[in-house]
Amino acid sequence: MRSAVLFDIDGTLLYARGIGRAAFGTAFEAAYGVPYPNLGGLSFVGATDSNVVRTMASECGVDSTPAREEHFFLRLAHAIDAGLSQNQPLVYPGVPDLLGRLTRRGHALGIITGNVRATAWSKLRHAGLDHAFSFGAYGDDHHERPAIARIALGRVPSNAAVRLLIGDTPLDIQAAHANGLKAVAVATGWVSADDLAAAGADLVLPDFADAAAAAARIEALF
Ligand SMILES: [Mg+2]
Repeated sequence: MRSAVLFDIDGTLLYARGIGRAAFGTAFEAAYGVPYPNLGGLSFVGATDSNVVRTMASECGVDSTPAREEHFFLRLAHAIDAGLSQNQPLVYPGVPDLLGRLTRRGHALGIITGNVRATAWSKLRHAGLDHAFSFGAYGDDHHERPAIARIALGRVPSNAAVRLLIGDTPLDIQAAHANGLKAVAVATGWVSADDLAAAGADLVLPDFADAAAAAARIEALF
């Protein structure tokens, strides 16, 4: 049976250059009718977009209704897509090479992200990585990452079995282990290699710059 690998997006494959944070501000004011006062204080590390916007609404004392969330995510996707058209994401070293190597070895690649669909695919498209992935689960599937990973497992191509999840935060490691997957952590995001190891990752890599070595170490975990 083919193997499949799940990848987180932000901090793992790419950095969207802070465009997401600014976009959260403009989309929030449009959808909720009030400005959010502390954009710089928001933490996105390992978070899901749904949980971030619900926290913003709660702090502003406004209800986060399903309609407002839908409006917010529509605005958010437009703002991020426009921002990334002007300023493309930073793709971390070795990422395209690693994805190519895993694909040529016959593995199916999927996305597990707290981003909603439209935002996830906007980032991947602007990064030139959109054609590498054949399935995924997103922040509009669920607001908690372990549940998003579980949903991704239900979407894997029928001839493949998911072996591991690759991410950049302890929440990715938890999501992997909660679903019986090995956890590979990469320290290109905002969490140090030491902290990722302490969080229980089965393999910690500083980055994917040596894509051949990274692919071999990942496959050794299958
Ligand atoms: Mg991440």
